Amino acid sequence: MSDKKDVVIIGAGPAGIQAAIHAVRKKCEVLLLGRIERSALYSAHVENYACVEGVKTGKELLEAGIAQVKNFGVELAEDDVLKIHQEENAFAVELESGTTVHSRTIIFANGTSRKKLKVPGEKELFGKGVSYCVDCDANFYRGATVAVVGNASAAIDGALTLTGYADKVYLVSKELNASGDLIEKLESSAVEHVSGTWVSEIQGEDAVQTLLLEDGRQLSLDGVFIELGAKGAMELALEIGVMLDMDTMSHIEANKKTETNVDGVYAAGDITGHPYQMAKAVGEGCVAGMEAASFAKKQKRNE
Ligand SMILES: Cc1cc2nc3c(=O)[nH]c(=O)nc-3n(C[C@H](O)[C@H](O)[C@H](O)COP(=O)(O)OP(=O)(O)OC[C@H]3O[C@@H](n4cnc5c(N)ncnc54)[C@H](O)[C@@H]3O)c2cc1C
Repeated sequence: MSDKKDVVIIGAGPAGIQAAIHAVRKKCEVLLLGRIERSALYSAHVENYACVEGVKTGKELLEAGIAQVKNFGVELAEDDVLKIHQEENAFAVELESGTTVHSRTIIFANGTSRKKLKVPGEKELFGKGVSYCVDCDANFYRGATVAVVGNASAAIDGALTLTGYADKVYLVSKELNASGDLIEKLESSAVEHVSGTWVSEIQGEDAVQTLLLEDGRQLSLDGVFIELGAKGAMELALEIGVMLDMDTMSHIEANKKTETNVDGVYAAGDITGHPYQMAKAVGEGCVAGMEAASFAKKQKRNE
């Protein structure tokens, strides 16, 4: 692998893949880093992406994207970035494999990991009734009984959204921490608020059946939405002085051109914040790929 690139993209999810397509088609040397199995999309079933009819698995969409970028001449490495340093007119990107790559620009497309409950059954039943995304999966629970677990506004908002789909919605919280307005909305809604307790186990054979609570109660249901907020993968960005969103401190602050506060550094996809959707990730990836390529080419012309 040549160690001089125009554009290095951190993240092989939809944002990174789309960024790679647009950057390489502007005749830039592009390296795409990351693993599709670690993309949030990998275990998803997508039916809300424009121009793609029916339900597609995230795995098939990502595999198609990877084949596409390979055909366009993007270099790929299933390698994790450990560190980034700023150099004169470039960035040094240290990889898990021990290689260091130098690039004129960086695109952060490394997604965000969702906080886990860490209870028995959660991992085993993920994708079989356990979900971390109300916006993504609500439609699969029409007429069902579901619970949302969480203490903050994201959980209340998720429970209220689900009342438009499911027949019965529980909200399980230890202690709510949200605005008065939102709590009022919750109280006047059809959501049954199970407060002062937490989940101890999620049970089911091939699909979620029962939620066991710490106070001994049991809820029979079809789905559990875990809405504990998103934890951003921020450390790398902070190493080179990229500013975070001041409201959440868990996303990268980027403008409409996906530019961050650091010249030559762009951000796209879940890492820039809500909504956590493939369509948004792809849109931002397109802009980031084009912007990074223009920046790199301008820098070359000025040398
Ligand atoms: C269960 C589930 C169902 C979903 N359903 C839908 C749906 O129906 N419709 C929809 O539009 N959206 C859905 N989503 C959301 C969608 O998957 C995300 O919005 C989308 O994947 C975000 O894309 P991204 O490229 O920003 O990040 P991701 O797809 O999460 O990709 C992140 C990439 O970054 C890489 N990475 C992370 N850290 C590093 C590092 N240090 N070095 C190198 N690489 C790194 C990872 O390997 C991965 O390749 C769903 C999500 C989940 C979890």
